[in-house]
Amino acid sequence: MIEFNHVSKVYPNGTTALNEVDLQIEDGEFVVVVGLSGAGKSTFLRSINRLHEVTEGEILINGESITKARGSSLYRMRREIGMIFQNFNLVRRSSVMRNVLSGRVGYHSTLRMILGLFPREDKDIAMQALERVNLQEKAYSRADELSGGQQQRVSIARALAQEAKLILADEPVASLDPMTTKQVMDDLARINKELNMTMVVNLHFIDVARQYATRIIGLREGEVVFDGPVGQATDEI
Ligand code: ADP
Ligand code: ADP
Repeated sequence: MIEFNHVSKVYPNGTTALNEVDLQIEDGEFVVVVGLSGAGKSTFLRSINRLHEVTEGEILINGESITKARGSSLYRMRREIGMIFQNFNLVRRSSVMRNVLSGRVGYHSTLRMILGLFPREDKDIAMQALERVNLQEKAYSRADELSGGQQQRVSIARALAQEAKLILADEPVASLDPMTTKQVMDDLARINKELNMTMVVNLHFIDVARQYATRIIGLREGEVVFDGPVGQATDEI
């Protein structure tokens, strides 16, 4: 469970990107965060795994404060959070397998990772993750030989290989066409159901949100202006 207690984020230039946000997200939910560009969606998501510090308030994950976590506990908490970005964040010249294996890095010593030595077990885990997004046949292709939609599904497989308990996706389909958007969103929905994986996904378009979300959170100027089931969400969010 994710719990926002009175969370605000003010950037150094004075922009208030989140304004006293209070909400809870339960395990297994598929939450879509919608709002216009600049509404605070990205700031909301980045606050959860502490890609930046919030200015006020606290965020708890399964009752533990990520806001206050230090050192190894912060590291452990982050390891359970998979992050998916608009631009995939893959190492383009590496193989798909290598990219998915990079989700395993946090499970091994630094020395082992400098040498690039992943145990057999990790390769099995990575291959299973690729099977879940139906890309096992692309395991030894170079990442940049894949289409945009396939690359995004590789980044989903990387989060699975990381054994994330929660996936945060920041505009995962913003650079994709409608057909590949559907493939990526279908994968997220299937993983949500099959693994009971909590999903928090930022989306530009409310119509895509409606097809997949169990709950919609609408942001405007850093404030939660809507929070409820899909059926009640109007186009004005
Ligand atoms: P969204 O993801 O909904 O487009 P953002 O969270 O990116 O919104 O941005 C929310 C607000 O915060 C916007 O006004 C944006 O310009 C501002 N903002 C985002 N990042 C920064 C930053 N690093 N420094 C200053 N202002 C920022
Ligand atoms: P998005 O809309 O996808 O969240 P942006 O293109 O708005 O991303 O922002 C790209 C980067 O610039 C981010 O790191 C964001 O934090 C930063 N940024 C966004 N708005 C501002 C701003 N007004 N001042 C400074 N940095 C900003």
